[in-house]
Amino acid sequence: MRIIDVREVAVPLHGNITNSVVNFAEHTVSLVAVQTDVRRNGRPLTGIAFNSIGRHAQGGILRDRMIPRLLAADPGALLDPSTGLLSPARVLECAMRDEKPGGHGDRAAAAGAVELAVWDLLAKHHDEPAHAAIARAFDRRPMTTGVPVYAAGGYYHPGDSLDRLRDELAGYADEGYPTVKIKIGGLPLPEDLARVEAAVEVMGGGAGVAVDANARFDRAQALAYAEALAGLGLRWYEEATDPLDYALHRELTEAYPGAIATGENLFSVQDVRNLLAYGGVRPDRDIFQMDAGLSYGLTEYARMIEAMESCGVDRSQAFPHGGHLINLHVVIGLGLGGCEAYPGVFEPFGGYSPDCRLSDGLIHPGQAPGFGLEAKPGLGDEITNLLKELDS
Ligand code: MG
Repeated sequence: MRIIDVREVAVPLHGNITNSVVNFAEHTVSLVAVQTDVRRNGRPLTGIAFNSIGRHAQGGILRDRMIPRLLAADPGALLDPSTGLLSPARVLECAMRDEKPGGHGDRAAAAGAVELAVWDLLAKHHDEPAHAAIARAFDRRPMTTGVPVYAAGGYYHPGDSLDRLRDELAGYADEGYPTVKIKIGGLPLPEDLARVEAAVEVMGGGAGVAVDANARFDRAQALAYAEALAGLGLRWYEEATDPLDYALHRELTEAYPGAIATGENLFSVQDVRNLLAYGGVRPDRDIFQMDAGLSYGLTEYARMIEAMESCGVDRSQAFPHGGHLINLHVVIGLGLGGCEAYPGVFEPFGGYSPDCRLSDGLIHPGQAPGFGLEAKPGLGDEITNLLKELDS
């Protein structure tokens, strides 16, 4: 097996929604295809993935640096010697050749898209869903009972109101989501608190509501919100402050009794080790949200889970950021705590395909080979266009 081409296209996210820091109207995502010389159904076997959601497309890094390295490499150096198939870890290593350690910014998302496309390719090679390939690679059995899923919404919309928020959240509850997440930090505390209280009312208690500040707060704001939210019994309080401010994170864990969630903006295992060492993490409750698509792919992500476990944090406390099919397969394959979902948001990448099933608050994957991205309305069309480009 050898790589014959790698292509990337930047696909715009649909919609005009805002958290406390970012408006997503101009956001794009890198959709990547890794094509091999193996033939399947009359076509080259091709792996497809994307760099999750929220960090923009990374076509420059891919086309200028990573793709040329992969195409120039000795094909044998990219293979797992025990299988003769592409090795995600070796592909990642090659994509990262001549890159200095540290930093872990946009290149982590660029590399993540390529590395994950190799997982899609391996699963398609074995004609199995990606979670099966992932579980086998890490000596695990895939979860068969479905995984807990929560609806991430509650963004700030133009001309927003509490009634609109209530309607949105009631819609998620009606669809079968037992837990929702809403944004905080985009309004003064009293108005934000009214939003949170409305959410708690709609969901029948704080356990059904998580809140996310998207790293907006300074120390005083983070602690003021901690005090205001402490009595509500929320599912978790997410990314109050700068993701790399471990000292403040420690202070927050000492001030806030409930679960604190963070990690979606940590892109390397070293960042996660620092969080574990210096962030005051409470192994019995806190939530970890690193996202393979933003952090060099599954190879690095699995090392992060290992780092958590070495500090006494159970993998069931991992809820990856990014409510999409790739992370659904990662969660099932690695036996993690659960998934995010973005019902109706961040199309065409957000949410699940029609062959996935939500019941009793659990999401079950479809059985299509790979991540099953081709089955997702809208995304399937983008993939068809990308494959046509490869053929041309
Ligand atoms: Mg978040």
